[in-house]
Amino acid sequence: MAPHEIVCWECGRTVKDMYADTCPSCGGLLMIKMDLEPLMEMRPEDLHGTPIGVWRYAPFMPVETANIVSIREGGTPLYPCSVLGAEIGVNDLFVKYDGANPTGSFKDRGMTVGVSHASEIGAKIVGCASTGNTSASLAAYAAKAGMRCVVFLPSGKVAAGKLAQAIFFGAKVISVDGNFDEALAVARELSEERALYLLNSINPYRPEGQKTVLFEIMDQLAYDVPDRIILPVGNAGNISAVHKALIELKEIGWIDKVPMLTGIQAEGAMPIVRAFNSKLADFVPEEHPETVATAIRIGNPISGRKALRAIYETGGHSVSVTDEEILAAQKILGRREGIGVEPASAASVAGARKLREMGIIDRDERVVCICTGNALKDPDTIISSSEPPVKCSKDLSSIKSILDL
Ligand SMILES: *Cc1c(COP(=O)(O)O)cnc(C)c1O
Ligand SMILES: [Zn+2]
Repeated sequence: MAPHEIVCWECGRTVKDMYADTCPSCGGLLMIKMDLEPLMEMRPEDLHGTPIGVWRYAPFMPVETANIVSIREGGTPLYPCSVLGAEIGVNDLFVKYDGANPTGSFKDRGMTVGVSHASEIGAKIVGCASTGNTSASLAAYAAKAGMRCVVFLPSGKVAAGKLAQAIFFGAKVISVDGNFDEALAVARELSEERALYLLNSINPYRPEGQKTVLFEIMDQLAYDVPDRIILPVGNAGNISAVHKALIELKEIGWIDKVPMLTGIQAEGAMPIVRAFNSKLADFVPEEHPETVATAIRIGNPISGRKALRAIYETGGHSVSVTDEEILAAQKILGRREGIGVEPASAASVAGARKLREMGIIDRDERVVCICTGNALKDPDTIISSSEPPVKCSKDLSSIKSILDL
């Protein structure tokens, strides 16, 4: 196993149990502490012999390369978006399109590491609770690894594409009569009984893979550190992972400044924004989160405290956007840049626009918006927010009149 320890993020205690998902002494969140010593002598170019993607960064990963379960995740495009940038008033805007991952969301970055670890410790059954993308991703990786997979979904609230993927890849899908937080409670009970290896956001191995979105952005910008990175915040695992990646790169001397990490939430599910507005280190959970962006419809973000630290320590910001603003940003990305994202992903761009209007983002900042998931994940939302197909007979003249020809 690559040299690392599991430590408690809250009390710092080392945890020996490979199945643990919280600290046995204080109940705190766990994190992986990598031994970065072997990286101290290296430069980013030393990794360039391997194609861009999660496993280019294997020396930063807590898994033996022999145990890797991969379907070629990461290596997603970083698009310069001048048209979108002009529209929202940011001169140097990029979109990191993680919807181009194998199952269509950034969750694949963490899942390749999580399932590789599960395989390394001999787990036979893996499981998760999910708003959709985690289960779609886990189902694919479990299939690749030859493991059984059980996913718990909140009933009736999962986008069609995500549900289709989980079923298609052969997971046992259990629809829990409740919201995400309640579905998670069931999954955690089974994990405590060791009936399955839990691969939720609480799992300390997944964020290690999620660090790679930052490593890739740095490689793609030739280590010219952007001023700001904006991303949607649900359970807050991704923003915390990006922060961890920055800390590690600083520690080994590959960067000397960090971008301002900026977390966007939907107005109907904004516990982190509220905490940020009051300058608090902890947040108050919301009972009834609601938003069209189902991937960030989270009232009690598991890594919320980590997210707040990430935002404060990098001088970042946090703001909410309405469902209308999210859908408008989704449409602009599609129609001006040809980038198809699901609603949660569009929150980053909606947030960029809002923060620019508020004067928090400067016109000359170099901004990277991370777009986390693919448009095809949630076709129903797109269809209901777009113009329906025009019904018409086969007659050429009526088609011409519709087309103004
Ligand atoms: C999971 C997910 C998010 C939220 O990420 P967190 O790590 O939970 O903050 C955002 N967008 C998409 C598409 C997702 O699948
Ligand atoms: Zn602890």
